[in-house]
Amino acid sequence: AKQPYDDQNIFAKILRGEIPNKTVMETEHSLAFHDINPLAPIHVLVIPKGPYVSWDDFTAKASDPEIADFVRTVGEVARMTGADAQGYRILSNSGKRSGQEVPHLHFHVFGGQPLGPMLA
Ligand code: 5GP
Repeated sequence: AKQPYDDQNIFAKILRGEIPNKTVMETEHSLAFHDINPLAPIHVLVIPKGPYVSWDDFTAKASDPEIADFVRTVGEVARMTGADAQGYRILSNSGKRSGQEVPHLHFHVFGGQPLGPMLA
């Protein structure tokens, strides 16, 4: 069974402004901010503002404008951080067995160094 969305997760609190974040960019439907424990010189998280647990949840339930906004924001983050200049990686863990710690969909954008075969 899929886990229901938990509105007490840390990214829900960030979206509500209950805990601070270092914002890279914000759009109507998405927020991008620096990871608190960066694994590369560029490590940004991109999240939709809606209550989606994972990629499969998001793509099943979100509207086309939300999906388009999110996908475009991930690309914009790669450009505005300079990650695109040297090569970068997009990664999203879905489910506890994948290593997902925060149950609100997020894409990691890694860059700024040569990237090994796996990260996060
Ligand atoms: P996951 O393991 O779920 O794919 O990734 C969760 C990410 O969220 C981790 O890289 C972790 O460092 C980051 N993270 C956890 N708590 C916070 C927080 O309060 N603020 C920020 N900016 N990042 C967080």
